[in-house]
Amino acid sequence: MKEIQIYNSYSGKKEIFKPIHEGRVGMYVCGPTVYSDVHLGNCRTFVGFDIIYRYLQHLGYKVRYVRNITDVGHLEGDADTGREDKISKKARLEQLEPMEIVQQYMNGFHEMMKIFNVLPPNIEPRATGHIIEQIEMVQAIIDNGLAYEQNGSVYFDTLKFAEKYGVYGKLSGRKIEDLLTETRDNLKNQDEKRHPSDFAIWIKAAPEHLMRWQAPWSVGFPGWHLECSAMSTKYLGEKFDIHGGGGDLKFPHHENEIAQNYGVCGHAPCNYWMHGNMLLLEGKKMSKSDGNSIMPGELFTGQSKHLTKAYSPMVVRFFMLQTHYRSTLDMTDDALQAAEKGYRRLMEGQKVLQELSHPGNGKAGDLDKEINSLIDLAFNDMSDDFNTPKALASLFELVTKINSLKGGQLSLGDVTAETLERLKQTFNDFIFDIFGLLTEDFASSGDGVVDGLMNLILEMRQTARTNKDWGTSDKIRDVLKELDIVVKDSKEGATWSKA
Ligand code: AMP
Ligand code: ZN
Repeated sequence: MKEIQIYNSYSGKKEIFKPIHEGRVGMYVCGPTVYSDVHLGNCRTFVGFDIIYRYLQHLGYKVRYVRNITDVGHLEGDADTGREDKISKKARLEQLEPMEIVQQYMNGFHEMMKIFNVLPPNIEPRATGHIIEQIEMVQAIIDNGLAYEQNGSVYFDTLKFAEKYGVYGKLSGRKIEDLLTETRDNLKNQDEKRHPSDFAIWIKAAPEHLMRWQAPWSVGFPGWHLECSAMSTKYLGEKFDIHGGGGDLKFPHHENEIAQNYGVCGHAPCNYWMHGNMLLLEGKKMSKSDGNSIMPGELFTGQSKHLTKAYSPMVVRFFMLQTHYRSTLDMTDDALQAAEKGYRRLMEGQKVLQELSHPGNGKAGDLDKEINSLIDLAFNDMSDDFNTPKALASLFELVTKINSLKGGQLSLGDVTAETLERLKQTFNDFIFDIFGLLTEDFASSGDGVVDGLMNLILEMRQTARTNKDWGTSDKIRDVLKELDIVVKDSKEGATWSKA
């Protein structure tokens, strides 16, 4: 199997990837907290790990990919105690069952993953389905002397942990001394903790709290970080290969997860920690609570003050590929327009390539060598910590050659039939299997997305016409015409078809 290198956030360097069991990979990625619609920042993280999952499979690994759903325990403000559970709060405000909230946003999340062509994980466990495992973990950590009970809640003893193992803060680059002096004055249960850096692993439920389970210490609910320790151990074992998530999860979430796993098993959960970087919107972290976000739906309709037009899901996926997962990615209208051009150029190159047929008698000259080395380079870049922008750059150099082969500036006689076949295979592998892009063929989308988008566009056209906004309605007509889409108006409304 081809050797790959992975940047390990824990060691802070690139390492050669050696799976625990030959040919197999266990990978756990923290999933969404389903109390609101996913924003594009969340989508970036899941698209990023989708490409990693796809590439590992492409290399021949049998991957068990576990991505959880957080449906209890994640408190407001991400701190670990004293504030309300995000899902519980939403349920209270909307006067719904917490599980109704969970179902609604989990469905929305799945839909969005499908729209972005993100493969489903092999196991998608939910925190509420693993309360027993979490209670067992709390007990084990208490038995190992690294947690204590206080008024029905249980806290992880970070100072003891730091003294015993010396790794608390290593992942996120924090010092235990700093953590101990960090004040979290907005937490009402602060006085229950022995040290400010301790965190809750079991929380006694306040009377108004909607989600609660019977445990030896109180009727309560688990701390957010515990679910990932419990579910990764259950499905991937006490030690697995890759643990991932967005970079903002390093602290406190992953740091505390490591502490808990030590608390139960005496060692860290995984060999490689991988963290994706943040999606920014015009230079600032995309975040719903700060009002600095674009929802996927706004992107697909262009209805956002940040955008001049609509962008399709595959253009957005392509846009994400253009930047390495460890770099920040700034979403701007200009960058999306450039991505749209890039996506089209790649897909057109792919179409032209698949239509090329070899005349026979090709020779393995310089051009043949160049094509083969660009293909090798693309795979080597993917194997170097999943460097999608570099791999794309090689594919674009190949697109230039493909266009010249078609235009006659280069000759297929200078390429062997074998190389042409390899080139075709490489483009199919990269575009569809590894990058997970789809052809945006308007006429043949069976998933309803295109229909939904088209209906919306036709509705907007109708509104514009009703309002005598001829500028907008003409613009819509011209763009549709450019895309070879014919709109027919009738009494029942407008319908569309591909010319
Ligand atoms: P949450 O639903 O808040 O638990 O987040 C789900 C995932 O989205 C986590 O892995 C976060 O790290 C990730 N995430 C949140 N905001 C962003 C962002 N602006 N860019 C990239 N990933 C993000
Ligand atoms: Zn997690």
